[in-house]
Parts: sequence; structure tokens; C-alpha cells
Amino acid sequence: MVISKEPYLAYYRMKLSHLLGENPTVDEILIHKPEWYKQNNVEILLGTQALSINPVNNSIKLDSGQTLQYSSLLLAMGSHAFVPPVKGTDLKGVFSIRTLDDVKKLYLYSHDKEKGVIIGGGVLGLEAAWVLY
Ligand SMILES: Cc1cc2nc3c(=O)[nH]c(=O)nc-3n(C[C@H](O)[C@H](O)[C@H](O)COP(=O)(O)OP(=O)(O)OC[C@H]3O[C@@H](n4cnc5c(N)ncnc54)[C@H](O)[C@@H]3O)c2cc1C
Repeated sequence: MVISKEPYLAYYRMKLSHLLGENPTVDEILIHKPEWYKQNNVEILLGTQALSINPVNNSIKLDSGQTLQYSSLLLAMGSHAFVPPVKGTDLKGVFSIRTLDDVKKLYLYSHDKEKGVIIGGGVLGLEAAWVLY
């Protein structure tokens, strides 16, 4: 069983940089189509967050209120964008890019705008500047 907070099946996150400035669908970047999961007997819980783990009785609690038992548990929860603790990062029009929904939100906000600023000149910042230009 795979539990994911995001509402989508696993997708190629790396491709998000190339989709900036677009309003992509997940179908364009899926790692496996839904049939693959059925064929391989993988049950999926999407849009579901694991809130806590109880290693004493091998259970996890989900935000749906459900509690699941496990025999083996793999934590693969990725990361999140570091947003520096400066004023204004919570304002409308300030984005960080980690998920497909982030790309969609950026598109909806920016597609009719002409100027943007990218903070962070690493590989992802440069890719973003290139694509948005
Ligand atoms: C725009 C962009 C471009 C990138 N380009 C490259 C590249 O070119 N080359 C490269 O090597 N790497 C790149 N990366 C980094 C790469 O995408 C990550 O290293 C990789 O996705 C990490 O995989 P992961 O499975 O560890 O975590 P993730 O892909 O982050 O997956 C973790 C999943 O767990 C979910 N989750 C977290 N907590 C919970 C919870 N409590 N309950 C349920 N679900 C939860 C998250 O919502 C997420 O869906 C890029 C990343 C981004 C954002």
C-alpha cells in the first residue's frame, strides 16, 4: 500500500521545472498509469496524510481518522522547499515549487503577468528563469 498526501499518483517531479509557465495535467508526467498499480497489486491512498506512527503496535494514524496496521513501513516523504524567514513570503504572488499543484498555482497567477523575480540562483532557479522567460 502507498499513502500519499498529494492527490496524484506518483509523477516525475523533476519534470516540473520544464512545465513552469504551463497548466499541466498529471497524465503528462505519471511514472505509471493507474492500471500498473492494479496489475501489481498496489493499493493507493491519495490525498491522505500519515499523522503519526505507533511502532509499539505497528500502526499508523491517517488524517482521515483511519488507523492502519503494518508489518513493514517505509518512510519516503521527500522534502519541501526552504523558504527563508523573511517578511512577505506569505504574500499573494510569492511561490515555491515542489509539487504539481505549485506549478498549476504559479501558472494561474502569472500567465497574464509580464515581470517576475526569481530568488535563488541554483540549478532550479536558473531553470525556472529560463522557462518563464
Ligand atoms: C522542480 C524540481 C526539479 C527537480 N529536478 C531534479 C533533477 O533534475 N535531478 C534530480 O536528481 N532531482 C531533481 N529534483 C529533486 C527530486 O525531485 C527529489 O530529489 C525527489 O523527488 C525525491 O524523491 P522522494 O521520493 O524522496 O520524495 P518526493 O518526490 O518529494 O515524494 C514524497 C511524497 O511523500 C508525500 N508525503 C510527505 N509527507 C507525507 C505524509 N505525512 N503522509 C503522506 N504523504 C506524505 C509528499 O506529499 C510527496 O508526494 C527536482 C525537484 C523539484 C521540485
